[in-house]
Amino acid sequence: MKGLRKIQPYVPGEQPALTGIIKLNTNENAYPPSPLVTKAWQTFDVANLRYYSSLANQSLVDALAQKHHIPSQWVTTSNGSDDILALAFQSFFQSEQPIFFPDLTYGFYPVWCELFHIPYQEVPLEKDFSFALAALPNQLGGVVLANPNAPTGKGKTVTEIEALLQRYPDRVIIVDEAYQSFGGESVIPLVAKYENLYVTRTFSKDASLAGLRVGYGIGSERLTGVIQAVKNSYNPYAVDMIAERLATAATQDTEYYQRINQKICATREQFCQALAQLGFTTIPSQTNFVLTTHPLISAKTFFDKLKEARIFVRYFPDKQRIANYLRITIGTDEEMVQVATVLKNIIEEEQNV
Ligand code: PMP
Repeated sequence: MKGLRKIQPYVPGEQPALTGIIKLNTNENAYPPSPLVTKAWQTFDVANLRYYSSLANQSLVDALAQKHHIPSQWVTTSNGSDDILALAFQSFFQSEQPIFFPDLTYGFYPVWCELFHIPYQEVPLEKDFSFALAALPNQLGGVVLANPNAPTGKGKTVTEIEALLQRYPDRVIIVDEAYQSFGGESVIPLVAKYENLYVTRTFSKDASLAGLRVGYGIGSERLTGVIQAVKNSYNPYAVDMIAERLATAATQDTEYYQRINQKICATREQFCQALAQLGFTTIPSQTNFVLTTHPLISAKTFFDKLKEARIFVRYFPDKQRIANYLRITIGTDEEMVQVATVLKNIIEEEQNV
């Protein structure tokens, strides 16, 4: 047949059947959503589903505006943050010049560039996996920055990003803050000052709602106007009624989420110590996962043996520089103690072979 699209899709982590496993491969939250979410679910009136969901998702937008101390006019909701990111790529990168992002970052960025025919350039990260922003060329189509970055877990400061916004006042800088709540600095306060900044957020990580599919973007009225026009050009009702109601409830329980996410950060620090004792080198992380490597045993060996023990983690054999690293999501204390024990057993077994 003629005229069919050829494209290499993004490959997400596995979603195995959930019983009897420790699932640490897609950076989901270790804890359940807030009790307010459960209550919203239980009191949802199914009869309302005969109506379309609201176009503006006003109750969710207002709750988010209040949470971030910004006007509602800056907020756009989406079906997961993948959706708002895809919209942002289509809305803001219409120039002939390439957009820039690191060679090691969220694997969806190059896929969207291919899908939407956006020229792009991947910038090799430094030896310590930092992104040398000052080395970017003077002419470019835009910059995309996961902050903190995935899969490295490293973050940039607000000051560094502000310098970037000032350097390219007529180009859009997208900052993907999917993991910000686990130790990163947010640039949302800069939206008031910089019309060229677009920030994306998700309910999948810090709000423990990956299965609900809700994300959002925050930007100046000018950028929001463009992104909403694009959104309304193909899927205006991207956030369904149930998702809006549950995400609104989650937004109102800051206290619960602060508690579980601080707990995850504390578990991460303990797990990093356990990894160090086993001889691993781990990149200091500002996220709910770590990227770690062992000098004697390959990531593939660990990956396969962990899987045999029903522990799912991720590694990236196609990404040469980190092919020997494991990316491990931070679970509960009990899960991480178990992971450390299995890792220790694998090291002992391998050394005795
Ligand atoms: N950005 C980054 C850096 C991510 O790791 C992810 C999750 N894979 C996303 C965005 C998208 O997450 P979601 O669509 O679940 O909001």
